[in-house]
Amino acid sequence: MNYTCTRDNSISISASKAILAGISPDGGLFLPEEFPKVSLDDIAKMRSMTYPERAAYIIGLFLTDFTNDELKAYTAAAYSKSRFGEIPAPVVDIGGESILELFHGPTFAFKDFALQLLPYLLTASAKKQGIHDKIAILVATSGDTGKAALEGFADVDGTGICVFYPYGGTSEIQRLQMTTQQGKNVLVTAVKGNFDDAQSGVKAIFTDKAYTDELKGMGIRLSSANSINWGRLVPQVAYYFSAYCDMANAGAVTFGDEINIAVPTGNFGNILAAYIAKLCGLPVKRFICASNKNNVLTDFIQSGTYDKNRPFYLTTSPSMDILISSNLERLLYLLSGRNDAQVRGYMAALAKDGKYTVSPGLHRAIAAEFACGFADDARAAETIRRTFEERRYLADPHTAVAIAVYEEYKLSTGDCTPAVIASTASPFKFSRSVLKALGKDTSGCEFDLIDRLADISGLTIPSRLAGLRDMAERFTGCIEPAGMKSFISKGLIK
Ligand SMILES: *Cc1c(COP(=O)(O)O)cnc(C)c1O
Repeated sequence: MNYTCTRDNSISISASKAILAGISPDGGLFLPEEFPKVSLDDIAKMRSMTYPERAAYIIGLFLTDFTNDELKAYTAAAYSKSRFGEIPAPVVDIGGESILELFHGPTFAFKDFALQLLPYLLTASAKKQGIHDKIAILVATSGDTGKAALEGFADVDGTGICVFYPYGGTSEIQRLQMTTQQGKNVLVTAVKGNFDDAQSGVKAIFTDKAYTDELKGMGIRLSSANSINWGRLVPQVAYYFSAYCDMANAGAVTFGDEINIAVPTGNFGNILAAYIAKLCGLPVKRFICASNKNNVLTDFIQSGTYDKNRPFYLTTSPSMDILISSNLERLLYLLSGRNDAQVRGYMAALAKDGKYTVSPGLHRAIAAEFACGFADDARAAETIRRTFEERRYLADPHTAVAIAVYEEYKLSTGDCTPAVIASTASPFKFSRSVLKALGKDTSGCEFDLIDRLADISGLTIPSRLAGLRDMAERFTGCIEPAGMKSFISKGLIK
């Protein structure tokens, strides 16, 4: 199976090439030329598999230049008990709805599913392409990607990783997780500005030919661990199939019937993975795209106009504080009937004017698949409190946004299709916001708050979070966006 580009249908490259490149030189994103078909019989067979087996099966349908044995070994290592516990992606019934818990990995956010696997995919892709350069991973993060990528790539031979996060734009725990990162090949810095500034800076470096050529001359090849990389998306497709199997096994859905999927959304990667699962054959009726106060996607799905010219808000769900949802480009491509010229036009308008309006036909196609809504901080907090008091389920602020928007969707449409809501982070990662939402005392340091949340909820504190208390901060710097290149050069080229 080969991969083409959202801005140029004439491109046709292997999976390993697409993963290695991350983004196309023309700025477009890679997608399979056609989607593999997964029948109900195939899904039925997955019901008795372990999570690593399910993942190897689904990922193998897309990465056809990897052997089954390779992928089985990678998923077994990436999703092992020591990294993800007994059940990597459990589905929990909260009385009516199913919650797909995606936060049992090493950094307590869903991005671990992709970023624990990506180092294997990336280093194997380089080998397959006969490339012996050192691979330097650049990451712009609003909090969770950075830590998950650091944890995935730390001390992986032949790689280096450099993470940029917006100064003051992450939770304190997210910041500490990154600044205490261990490993010989890791670099972390704060950048003045917001996430979009950091992301734009990284994108500019990738497309700076003089600079990338200079690095190539020194045996260094840049690659991306942001969700524009196909290697980030494909592992996420697997857990939606897994969730369906678990829901069927638990009787939450009659096998073969459709489900709805609600996802707290930022860069549009996680919800796009769910849509790709549907294109492969997963029985899904509708997707519910949930945003926080940075509701550019809600407005887009409702109106057909994407407009990033608006205030940027820091919210209690920082990983969704995004105004440019990169992966939306992939959806536009697919739902426009793979119309690369149309996508090029929209993306040029976005770069020039910060906005574009899709054709009425494309808008209808999007609205038919995707419902949408947003919840501000107050509603997310109210949802955390209510969900805990009425259902004894403790949600983090990102998950709470999705629960709130799903509840509103169900109420306004009367659509009672069995639903799964993606839970993207552990509540302990955002203890201050969660305690505040519950109306509890928020005095003391971050670790006092974690202890208090454990007492109140009866949940066990993840040991790696508690351990942060005793770790020294290694990376305390903050740079201007203009200094990103020299930060990389100084740190990576030794
Ligand atoms: C990254 C992240 C999101 C947003 O996911 P996208 O794939 O960017 O839409 C939501 N919640 C948490 C906790 C995250 O880390």
